[in-house]
Amino acid sequence: MTHSARFLPYGRQTVEAEDVAAVVEVLESDHLTTGPAVARFERAFAEAVGAPYAVACSSGTAALHLALLALDPPEDAVCIVPALTFAATANAVRLCGRRVVFADVDPETALLGPAQLEAALARARGPVAAVLPVHYAGQPAPMAEIAEMVRDRGIRIVEDACHALGTRFRDRLGAATVGDGSRADLSCFSFHPVKTIACGEGGMVTTADPLLAERLRRLRSHGIERDPARFAERAAAFDAQGEPNPWYYELRELGLNYRLSDIHAALGASQLRKLDAFLAARRRLVATYDRLLAPLAPEIRPLGRVAGAEPGWHLYVVRIDFPALGIDRATVMRRLRERGIGSQVHYIPLHLQPLYRSRNPDPRLPGAERFYARCLSLPLFVGMTEQEVERVVEALREVCGL
Ligand SMILES: *Cc1c(COP(=O)(O)O)cnc(C)c1O
Repeated sequence: MTHSARFLPYGRQTVEAEDVAAVVEVLESDHLTTGPAVARFERAFAEAVGAPYAVACSSGTAALHLALLALDPPEDAVCIVPALTFAATANAVRLCGRRVVFADVDPETALLGPAQLEAALARARGPVAAVLPVHYAGQPAPMAEIAEMVRDRGIRIVEDACHALGTRFRDRLGAATVGDGSRADLSCFSFHPVKTIACGEGGMVTTADPLLAERLRRLRSHGIERDPARFAERAAAFDAQGEPNPWYYELRELGLNYRLSDIHAALGASQLRKLDAFLAARRRLVATYDRLLAPLAPEIRPLGRVAGAEPGWHLYVVRIDFPALGIDRATVMRRLRERGIGSQVHYIPLHLQPLYRSRNPDPRLPGAERFYARCLSLPLFVGMTEQEVERVVEALREVCGL
């Protein structure tokens, strides 16, 4: 590496002139929030993933929280969350006052599979309201199998699709796109700058259920109903001529301000227009990593792959056998950083975190713990070049003494 080589973070946004122009246009318009840019972004997003309904909100975390609030699980219900995910997946359950049961994951893919789900269902005390599969790194969890296992038990599926915008797959139910409403009741996306498209902060929930969509819209804005067709208090809502009173709205349930601003929505919509190019760039970089890393096996191996999937890759994760190499992960990360290369660990299993460990006497989850012991996310972002992938692999090889 020369001094002029730029630092490569594990992920970052690509914002170009047309994105800036789209944001400036909103800034100079009448509406910075609750204007037309949000509905435009929602329509474009629904079309992009093939969903009947898309409801924008302020973050991926807000999306998960809204999704669970919309399902309104019974008070004594539990939700099943794979242990190897970002904090928000489980926190959303807790924010609704419900309990989390952590499921293990497949140590090859970090995905929740049927065996891990079965074990979690057996451990759950109390009715299970929902399962939240996470499409780790962009690869799809086995949704047809999960759906088959839970449907006739009345368990809803909320997929955490924050990694998986643009992921397509084929399973026994046919071809699907993550978030198209065919496999999950609700699908949650994030537009944090490290994700596939950036809003700054932003999120989306998609669904095929019109009643859930309506409820999500109400919950993201305080629980307020503004559609006269849905007013319950007729006498207060309408005048003698049957016209809705101009000031009137109805507070129907307890909601939040989780709205996405028009500023963020304009950026999201502009980014979404480039989704295909973004996905293609990510897939090319992943293929290059795969090719260059192949000689470093078995000590360094890529994430196990899901057959029949065309992932919208969010992360490039390798599994490193640190003991076999005689080096620890912290040292590898520090030495990569010295060479201008960022890396990250996705994730520390949540059942090991103080917040959850203290109240969750879950058994060991060996798949998640085994994956956590080995995983390292390498730089992957749209503006990265093939030469930069080479630079990362060469640095990793050198640091690991291979
Ligand atoms: C990013 C992410 C979230 C949260 O999204 P924010 O937009 O940062 O709130 C939730 N789950 C997973 C798996 C994520 O990667």
